[in-house]
Amino acid sequence: MANSLMAGAVGRDMAVDLGTANTLVYVRGKGVLVDEPSVVAINQTTGEVLAVGHEAKRMLGRTPDSITAIRPLKDGVIADFEGCEQMLRWFIQQVHHRRYLAKPRMVVCVPSGITPVEHRAVKEAAYQAGARRVFIVEEPMAAAIGAGLPVHLPTGNMVVDVGGGTTEVAVISLGGIVTSLSIRTAGDDLDNAIVQWMKKEHALLLGERTAEEVKMTLGSAFPSHDEPVAEIRGRDLVSGLPRTVAVTSADIRLALDEPLNAIVDAVRTTLDQTPPELAGDIMDRGIVLTGGGALLRGLDERLRHETGMPVHVAEDPLLSVAMGAGRCVEEFDALQQVLVSDARRLRAS
Ligand code: ADP
Ligand code: MG
Repeated sequence: MANSLMAGAVGRDMAVDLGTANTLVYVRGKGVLVDEPSVVAINQTTGEVLAVGHEAKRMLGRTPDSITAIRPLKDGVIADFEGCEQMLRWFIQQVHHRRYLAKPRMVVCVPSGITPVEHRAVKEAAYQAGARRVFIVEEPMAAAIGAGLPVHLPTGNMVVDVGGGTTEVAVISLGGIVTSLSIRTAGDDLDNAIVQWMKKEHALLLGERTAEEVKMTLGSAFPSHDEPVAEIRGRDLVSGLPRTVAVTSADIRLALDEPLNAIVDAVRTTLDQTPPELAGDIMDRGIVLTGGGALLRGLDERLRHETGMPVHVAEDPLLSVAMGAGRCVEEFDALQQVLVSDARRLRAS
């Protein structure tokens, strides 16, 4: 009995990858149990949460006035604190039931670029959602652990995490982040660049979701020999009627040039600021590319071409951060070093 209670008590420690595009929840001993878009749909009149995750994402751009579908972490910052808290609570409740006796410990990953005020806001949301103790792990660290890099060795490892709202570049050695840079150019900006380009070149208006699909199917960062062509449907800016246009991968690459250059520059700048010994290690071991943006066709090749470093795409780029944070809950004691505990804060409730 005592044993099963103990098992129950440790069973629910969890790790949350609170991403700007997707939120994942890893439960100790179980793995990733929640993997949903970071979107909340709210009834404007009553303030009630109508849907969260996939269901809410389907509503983006399709809501009547009385409903708003929002992305609470839209630009790599918490754009809507209340929405963020509601979303977090919703996801946590899917895996944490009140019948359990102990409140869970929670490891939460946030973009490394967010401000101390936003840090506190995320912690507050996690406490509100039922955490007993909250630990923050910096996203690049979690991504590196999740991608299987030997973060504790005295060797330089570079991780580039291209998410929805931010791109995080970090050099890790001996369990700590040596140099890092977070820029607010990532997947969303690629979508937006496609919207702008279609408007300018074809007088065609695309929705945010269509632009993302175009990016995934046609988008590329580097030329290759089998480049797809596709018909894209949008609304004609002049007539206001639906119209289709045939577009090639090369066209989309042009459209994506500016945000892609910003990402490449962030990697270059970080390499520039890396101590020479560690830069040498990276030259040998290469850069690990992760986050959903790592799936953009040819992004690895472009980085290789522009930095001269070897580049590897992580095995499952959308899962790296959650798996790394998950390792932290599985091996709390061994990996304590990378966690930033919240010792200042003692909560009575
Ligand atoms: P975050 O950590 O910010 O939530 P993710 O790591 O979950 O972000 O990545 C989400 C981003 O990855 C989105 O911008 C999405 O459009 C992009 N993405 C996902 N799959 C692909 C793909 N196959 N090609 C290009 N971009 C992709
Ligand atoms: Mg992420």
